[in-house]
Amino acid sequence: MNTITSEAPTPFPTVYGPVKSWRYGRSLGIDPIGAISTCSFNCVYCQLGEIEYRTDQRQIFVPTATIIKDLQRFAPWDVDVITLSGSGEPTLAANLGEIITEIQKLTQKPVIVLTNGTLLGDPAVCQALQSAQEVAVKLDATYSDQLTRINRPLSELDWAEIYTGIEQFRSFYPGKLSLQTMILSPWQKAQQQIYCHIVRKIQPDTIQLNTPTRPKPLMRQLDGRGNHTPGESRSYPVHHLKSVSSDVLQGLAAMIQQETGVSTRIAPQPS
Ligand code: SF4
Repeated sequence: MNTITSEAPTPFPTVYGPVKSWRYGRSLGIDPIGAISTCSFNCVYCQLGEIEYRTDQRQIFVPTATIIKDLQRFAPWDVDVITLSGSGEPTLAANLGEIITEIQKLTQKPVIVLTNGTLLGDPAVCQALQSAQEVAVKLDATYSDQLTRINRPLSELDWAEIYTGIEQFRSFYPGKLSLQTMILSPWQKAQQQIYCHIVRKIQPDTIQLNTPTRPKPLMRQLDGRGNHTPGESRSYPVHHLKSVSSDVLQGLAAMIQQETGVSTRIAPQPS
């Protein structure tokens, strides 16, 4: 079904940036979710603030034509990549596949989708992501309680099912798959071993480790979609988060790379 419509663009900016990403260079952001932050998780560190609408049901939040119209204003797209994330979980957008195809047709740029992985077991989502050049999947937890604590998912979501969905997706997806893992406290040996076991099963192309370096806004903030300089002040109430040192991150990255053979990078840390 073709969902492109000729509706007038909304005042909500569905294209933002370019932002400078340590992972992807100059990246133009696309927001297929829109004004109300929407996700199946409510991560303790989410830069959008507390998620306003929690769901795992797909729907069209922003018409594809609106996004494409907004994107045309950024021509000639002097960026390295175009990244879909925005105001929540992009795979919840039922027009995701169409958005990716239309962006590629218009810009000829690589498209990256950042996802929390909860819907990767859905064949329609798997299909929609096939033409993306890279899918970056969040994997912060190696067991159920940790998922509950860090990602605060909808109660019906189960860690084992999410993990199976990611594994399944890997076997069908021809593009580059990366795992993104946020480390909030040092991992015990047992957890390190479980993580390496999961990595060997999923076989990602790369792993990116991070730790919270920015305080979390307490309420929905639109600028949470972009990048911030660590330490910069915010004009709204924030919550400061626990993080680990650069040495801990580096040690973990070296261990994962040695044990799994998968290239593992850490996010640059504030000096
Ligand atoms: S998955 Fe992403 S958008 Fe959703 S709550 Fe977590 S950090 Fe925020």
